[in-house]
Amino acid sequence: MKITDVTCHVLQSKVEQPFTSARGWLYTTRASCIVEISTDAGITGWGECYGPAAVNRSIIETQYRSRVIGRDPFDVEVIWEDLYNRIKDYGLTGMTIAALSGIDIALWDIMGRAVGKPVHKLIGGAHRTELTAYATGLYFIDMDRLVEEAVDEARKYVEQGFQAIKMKIGLGDPKLDLRRVAAVREAIGPGIKLAVDANHCFTVPHAIRLGRAMEDLDILWFEEPISPEDHDGYVEVTRALDMAVAGGENDFTRWGFRDVIARKAMDIVQPDVCAAGGISECRKIAAMASAHGVECVPHAWGSAIGLAATVQFLAALPDTPPALRPMPPMLEFEQTPNPLRDLLAREPIQQQRGIVRVPEGPGLGIEIDREVLQRYRVA
Ligand code: CA
Repeated sequence: MKITDVTCHVLQSKVEQPFTSARGWLYTTRASCIVEISTDAGITGWGECYGPAAVNRSIIETQYRSRVIGRDPFDVEVIWEDLYNRIKDYGLTGMTIAALSGIDIALWDIMGRAVGKPVHKLIGGAHRTELTAYATGLYFIDMDRLVEEAVDEARKYVEQGFQAIKMKIGLGDPKLDLRRVAAVREAIGPGIKLAVDANHCFTVPHAIRLGRAMEDLDILWFEEPISPEDHDGYVEVTRALDMAVAGGENDFTRWGFRDVIARKAMDIVQPDVCAAGGISECRKIAAMASAHGVECVPHAWGSAIGLAATVQFLAALPDTPPALRPMPPMLEFEQTPNPLRDLLAREPIQQQRGIVRVPEGPGLGIEIDREVLQRYRVA
């Protein structure tokens, strides 16, 4: 089988109710670069790149596309190393790796379709056929109702059956953050897991002080307390707090994660399959984490394709540690309104009572609705 073409689709949808996080910019649109790879066998595979879609598209079209055409999709890691080698001299480890991730995911989709198996069967098999999903939400929308809106939204997720929720923090006022987290914990009760995500907005002392103040609120993990470049700082925060510290959605490749994992700078690493190098590279990152006693719980933020790829990857991640009643890695199921996530697959990945079934269909286990693809396509 030979690859005959690589096509990028830049999709964009408007966000009706703009929201923000501690990063400080308002989300008014959701966009994604979708990668379509076709073959001479008539099999098409789909991938997705995290981050600025037009940049991803440009990197693929100008740097990768011609090197991929004519190759056998089953040479997925040969292709990966070749593309990485093509760009490594230029020091761009972020968006170039996200662009490479979209190609890698599409190749896994093709391989699965070629042999009639879901991707998780090709990467070791399913440790579980159902995933526990956690709802990511509780962004900042109405600055006059920050506590009330968080409580309302958290209650909605509990009513929908979610057993775990992740909320945004980082309002420039640790007392307000603490009040808001405490109000959500009070509203959802002790039985629902609650994680907090600061989107790297704190200094080390602020993160430690706020983390200690939140210890009584039974926080599942404290995500991205500080800037991703500051590995020494992560070691300090992680050692200082009893609660787990998580991060890694802004790290890329096995080399980017190596020091973080070997130093146990975080308790949980969160590579994104659409950003950190695709399914091929995230498997290596997960293996390295396992060897160092660090949990791997992937980050996910994208369309139906990125979500499906994350589900396939998660199904094949072992419990760390294995146990009679293990605590398996959970699926990040982001809940802000996004038609690219909800409509792009003919049978979208959905949760019921907080559980997501791992699709058994070939490849990523979803079929793309081309009419929806065209509807949101801007380039
Ligand atoms: Ca995050």
